Amino acid sequence: MNRLTSKIPEKIMLKGLTLDELRTFFIEIGEPKFRGEQLFSWMYNNLSTDFDEMLNLSKGLRNKLKEQAELSSLFFVDSETSLETGTKKFIFKTREDHIIESVIIPEDKRSTLCISTQVGCPLDCQFCATGLMGYKKNLSAGEIFDQYLLAAKDYGKDKITNIVYMGMGEPLLNFDATVNSLMIFSENLTAGISSKKITLSTAGIAPKIVELAEMNLKVKLALSLHSCFEDIRTSIMPINKKYSLKENLDAVAYYAKKTDTKITFEYVMLKDINDREEDLEALIRLSRYIPSKINIIPFNSLKHMNPVGFSAELEPTPKHKIESFVQTLRDNDITVMVRFTQGDDIAAACGQLAVKY
Ligand code: SAH
Repeated sequence: MNRLTSKIPEKIMLKGLTLDELRTFFIEIGEPKFRGEQLFSWMYNNLSTDFDEMLNLSKGLRNKLKEQAELSSLFFVDSETSLETGTKKFIFKTREDHIIESVIIPEDKRSTLCISTQVGCPLDCQFCATGLMGYKKNLSAGEIFDQYLLAAKDYGKDKITNIVYMGMGEPLLNFDATVNSLMIFSENLTAGISSKKITLSTAGIAPKIVELAEMNLKVKLALSLHSCFEDIRTSIMPINKKYSLKENLDAVAYYAKKTDTKITFEYVMLKDINDREEDLEALIRLSRYIPSKINIIPFNSLKHMNPVGFSAELEPTPKHKIESFVQTLRDNDITVMVRFTQGDDIAAACGQLAVKY
């Protein structure tokens, strides 16, 4: 098993191993497999980063693990809190000094942690700051989990109620690590975030949506829709050339059926691009055939990235027009959420995550 034997730099990285992988690891080093459950619980429930805290492991075993293995895959660098909304942005770094960002978005009774799955992003969506910074690497399952660990230690584990895979990167292009991190969150032994409270957002990698549906993880799925027309969608999201809207809609319809969940369609409002009468009509038609709700997102400025070309021309739909757009959707019995901008003042709003470090 490659992941068990990959060493960082000479040691084995335990963070990110699933329950089954940890059981196998202990069997391989000549220990009983229930040690896997114990270590799983320490790492993912107690959020422990120190073998010496793990008092139900013998001293000898703790020493052996200290010599051979590592527990932390990500480290705190900095954080910033928006005075306007309480949104908190974290800057973390990987062992190879890559910088990533995660964001906590407080709402009335819940706080949602938005985590990244890649350093940068290869997709080049024209409205997204992360796309403008290019792609650096896939995060490991441990690096994905450790964003939760570090944020929970800072903010309070009980206060984080939901997780969204909506930070930097395209989760379905980092499929194995993303799925392993979801498997870790979905175990009963893990700190209280159930799959139902986790949403994965994708720009639309149709075959991977189908594969995720087959895994029965029961996480919620959001599709970054942004236009119901193939040509317009391709102009703002080049990945649409490879996986068409039609393929993606078939895939999410399958996901909704298979997991018995509703799909969220994310829709960034771009002036004169996707806020026209025909866009409304197409959205209404689409909502009739896929069990879904729509998440309207006001377009957040990319000015901090000094965009050029088409990206520089994009403008937000004016607020009054968003309101009438939303009202028409609601008049047609569609469930619509409007994600008012949170954290714009600290460049932590949707699509603004891009590393300035
Ligand atoms: N790659 C995934 C997840 C990251 S983006 C995806 O595409 O879904 C998370 C959400 O923020 C997506 O819906 C994305 O389209 C949206 N987004 C990106 N840039 C934005 C911007 N400038 N303003 C508002 N939302 C944006």
